[in-house]
This record gives sequence, C-alpha cells and structure tokens, in this order.
Amino acid sequence: MWRGAVARVLRSGGTGNSRFVSGTAAVVEFRRRLERELEDIRGAGTWKSERIISSRQGPHLRLEGGGTGILNFCANNYLGLSSHPEVIRAAVEALEKFGAGLSSVRFICGTQSIHKDLEEKIARFHQREDAILYASCFDANAGIFEALLTPEDAVLSDELNHASIIDGIRLCKANKYRYKHMDMQDLEAKLQDAQKHRLRLVATDGAFSMDGDIAPLREICQLAQKYDALVFIDECHATGFLGPSGRGTDELLGVMDKVTIINSTLGKALGGAAGGYTTGPKPLIDLLRQRSRPYLFSNSLPPAVVGCASKALDLLMESNAIAQSMAAKTQRFRSKMTAAGFTISGKDHPICPVMLGDARLAAVMAEDMLNRGIYVIGFSYPVVPKGKARIRVQISAVHSDEDIDRCVEAFTEVGRKHGALP
Ligand code: PLP
Repeated sequence: MWRGAVARVLRSGGTGNSRFVSGTAAVVEFRRRLERELEDIRGAGTWKSERIISSRQGPHLRLEGGGTGILNFCANNYLGLSSHPEVIRAAVEALEKFGAGLSSVRFICGTQSIHKDLEEKIARFHQREDAILYASCFDANAGIFEALLTPEDAVLSDELNHASIIDGIRLCKANKYRYKHMDMQDLEAKLQDAQKHRLRLVATDGAFSMDGDIAPLREICQLAQKYDALVFIDECHATGFLGPSGRGTDELLGVMDKVTIINSTLGKALGGAAGGYTTGPKPLIDLLRQRSRPYLFSNSLPPAVVGCASKALDLLMESNAIAQSMAAKTQRFRSKMTAAGFTISGKDHPICPVMLGDARLAAVMAEDMLNRGIYVIGFSYPVVPKGKARIRVQISAVHSDEDIDRCVEAFTEVGRKHGALP
C-alpha cells in the first residue's frame, strides 16, 4: 500500500506538499503565515544557513561545493576527539555488541550495562556520587529545575545563561531571579531578597559560549555559602579541558567541593557524538530518574554514542596531555591575534571571540576568511548585543601551530582589507 502512496507523491512532483497546499483554507492561510515569518527572518538579516560538510568533523574539512582543505575554527571539538580513531573504534564495537538502539526509555527496557558504566565513569571523572544520562544537555537542563524546585523555592540565574537553562527554568514553578551577567553585587542583592524562600539555587554557565568568559565561581560559591544556597553549573564549554586535569570550571577555580550540581554535554569535547548528563549527590540523581521528564519520556542513548563518550573519558582520565595541548594552542592564537591589533574577548578559553562591533563587518570578514580557506562564523544581534558583533574562533587540540598561524595571517589580511585593522 505504501508503494502506491509513494508513487502518487512522486507523480505529484514532491514529498506530498501538493496535498498540503490544496488543503483547507486554514491550511492555506497557515502556510502563507509561515512564509511571511520566514520572509521577516530573511529581511531582518538573521537567517541561519547551514554549510554542508562532506568529510568527518575535524580541523581540516571538505565542504560540499566548496573545495577541500578548509581549516575549521568553529566547532566545539575542543579536544579533537570527534574523529579520534579510538573513539570511532569504540563506537563501532558498541554498535556491534549492543545494537543500533534500545527502542525504549530507560525504565521500561532501555538500560544496558554500558549506560550504567558510563554514568559511573562520568561521576568518577567529576568526583561526584552519581550521574544520569540524557539524550542531550538541552534535555538535562530542561529536566532538572522542574524536577527539583517548587513554588516554595527560588532559582537565581545569570542573565546570559544558555537558552536551555533559560527554558528549563521557565518550566519550573520556583520564584525566578535574573542577576546581571557575572555581577556579584547584583547576585548578592538577589540572594538577600530570596532569603524568604525555602531553597535557593544559583544557576550559571561555567564558561559562556558567546564571550569565552568564565563565571566567577569562587565568589559565587562564597555568596552561596553566606546565603545558604546551592550552586548549579552548566559545563558544556568546560568539561574535558578547563582546569589542570580537564575536570572543568570548578577544578580551574578550586571549588570542586562547593558546586552541588553539574550538567554537561557529551556532544562537544567528550567525543562530540551527542548526549548530556547531570552529576551530583546520589539522592538528587535518584530523584531525577523518578521525576525528570526528558529522562522518563525519551529514548535511551544509542550504544554507539555511549561508546564514543566512554572512550573519550578513558582517554582523558589516562592523561591530561590533550587538554594541555589545547591550552597551549589557545594561548598561541590569543597572543598572536592581540599582537596583530585585534581585541579578543574572554581569557584563556578556546572560545576566542574576535570583537569587531559592526554586524556587516563581521559578516563580510567571515565570508572573506572562507575565501581564504578558513571557516569561521560571524555573530551579530540578536545572538549577541547590538554593536558587539564578532567572529567567534574556536581552538582545538588538533589544530597544528601552522593552522593557528595561517588563521592569524588570514585575519590580519582580511582585517586590513576591510578596515578592522589600521
Ligand atoms: N548548554 C550550553 C552552555 C551549550 O552551549 C549547549 C549547546 O550548545 C547546551 C547546553 C546544549 O547541549 P547539547 O548539544 O548536548 O544539547
């Protein structure tokens, strides 16, 4: 029967859209409205297009229709593990041994030994009591606040926190306070106001992905202690590479014993496949398994994905050489770009935003960088504040010194050409 349906769609010249178009007046009007909205997005200059990569993720890419040997400076592949041969082999082995997927949520029939092993490994890596896996860190952030906080509680959130934290907080019924970005005076004032609530949870990104700046966790933890609050950090842009052994922002700033809850991703430095997690006290993790909706009502992580993350953690626990190599490359890029006359936001983080101010300048320079074989992305309003457009460069442990130098040279040429440098 489905063969007939497919043949009808093919004869109609598409994927079935013709049926959609010739639907009721409501459907026709709906489609017009969607098209108007899409036009508005294009008109506002905020359309996000996707370049198609026809090679593996890595420092050197092949882009569809765009030549080979493109130098990639815009992935979150901080440690270069996305295409690491051992990570790939671990995925293939897990696929062969445990199959393509579980066709089930965890509590029905979706938990394998590899899921439990990975949770144990994540907890050990972060030196916490337990961990719980999610399909993504977006899900981990969507699930945690609603499961933990009630109208009796309060959550205090940095105004520049990631969209998934903002959405997760929206879903909970706690009292909401938003403090100014990394402003400890404002956080203290909000904590004082929040004393009337049963529990206070301060929620912040460990490292902020648009600016490459790092939350002042020592001060946050001191305030949390003073006002009897808990601290939650999202470590997506820190896990695996910040701190002497890559444990993250809490290790970097010496507060591993003061941060109560960590959410992070398996989709960036830890192999780059997909997945997220929460790690922290055991009763908290036990409660999330009972109450957290994205965990309870979504499929288990596929074995190949579990295999990638598990191997990435093994590599990191064996040696911190990869994390240190990334730190040295970051330092090389930041100091050479600063010497060339550019302003790089943030400090010591592989996210290196080259601050340009003007949105058009950021767009044309990013385009011209690609003409020179360097793939970087310009960000402008509304992703970043008006007047703070930038090109975000991300350094990876697998960039060579020559790659970094080529990128700096291209920036210098393009910057001079477009007036960003004298
Ligand atoms: N939190 C932060 C700070 C992020 O940058 C991201 C991804 O962009 C996420 C959460 C979501 O992570 P995932 O891709 O695992 O859903």
